[in-house]
Amino acid sequence: MDNFLFAFILSLSYIICIFIVQYLGIGSKKKCTNSNNCCPDCKSNLSRIKRLSKDKLNYYLSLGMIDWRRYSCEKCGWQGLRWTKPHDLKRN
Ligand SMILES: [Zn+2]
Repeated sequence: MDNFLFAFILSLSYIICIFIVQYLGIGSKKKCTNSNNCCPDCKSNLSRIKRLSKDKLNYYLSLGMIDWRRYSCEKCGWQGLRWTKPHDLKRN
């Protein structure tokens, strides 16, 4: 029974962690003066590229609550995962 309780608390704190990531916007799109989704290095516009197979892992790890998408920068070649905050989606 103690093991069950431990697993329960562990998964509960895991879900809370995902909520904290969502709330703080960790890894979400960054806005700049010239773009709604800008590169963290050179501040230019990012463009959507095809997801890699390992990117699906991020999706499963966040229990499908965070919609990770892969972006790349045309200027400096930066590549990474970004997600859109739900309230940003409604505005677009
Ligand atoms: Zn860049």
